[in-house]
Amino acid sequence: MLKVVDLQKKFHKLEVLKGISTTFHENEVVSIIGPSGGGKSTFLRCLNLLEQPTSGQILFDGTDICTIKGKAIDHCRQRMGMVFQQFNLFSNMDVMHNLTAAPVRIKGMSQSDAQEKALELLAKVGLADRADAYPSQLSGGQKQRIAIVRSLMMDPEVMLFDEPTSALDPEMIGEVLDVMKDLAESGMTMIVVTHEMRFAREVSSRTIFLDGGVIGEDKPSHELFSHPESPRLVTFLNKVL
Ligand code: ATP
Ligand code: MG
Repeated sequence: MLKVVDLQKKFHKLEVLKGISTTFHENEVVSIIGPSGGGKSTFLRCLNLLEQPTSGQILFDGTDICTIKGKAIDHCRQRMGMVFQQFNLFSNMDVMHNLTAAPVRIKGMSQSDAQEKALELLAKVGLADRADAYPSQLSGGQKQRIAIVRSLMMDPEVMLFDEPTSALDPEMIGEVLDVMKDLAESGMTMIVVTHEMRFAREVSSRTIFLDGGVIGEDKPSHELFSHPESPRLVTFLNKVL
């Protein structure tokens, strides 16, 4: 559903992505791992056009989204949910309004339908009783689960995650990973930048090692972790495992 062909991104003279090619299939869960500064966030941000790629193609169901403009960009972004390390909830709105604002305003959903959907999704992530809370009254793990629900409210076709558990206290990481695991099992297509090697190994079917702006290895997770080939991946895994 998402085919990336020779994607390059430069910031002035700094070459951050040096020709990335890979394909993400429907229902696939892919982890992206690699050292800091390797271009993982930049890659995700290119996928949903938060950054304009310097060259290459990103084919989303056959359309090269690098060439689209204006309203079509917004429409394309709506088809991809994105969850960041920092939760980016609206602090002046309670949970219910955080969840219903976009579907009502952008998708033209009625407030009551949006609320019904929000309650259903909140129940799935174990937060049905927090609809009236404000973000400041929630723990980090709760905020991140709400941020995931907020993305799901727009019925995305693919979900992008950029280190969704990195800002969390250790005891809250599990509850967020459990929600992501359920989502994976429900068949959602997911691309996940993560430092959680257990998630990469056990939940994602494929793992990409992104290092210095190039794909070092891209293969089934069990294979990548049990038989890392490149010395750089071996060194990286020795540091993080
Ligand atoms: P980390 O694991 O630390 O999050 P990363 O793999 O996500 O790292 P990126 O954030 O994609 O790495 O950054 C890759 C390189 O691009 C870094 O050298 C960074 O400084 C640079 N970079 C990222 N965004 C910009 C920008 N907007 N302007 C200039 N340079 C940038
Ligand atoms: Mg990053």
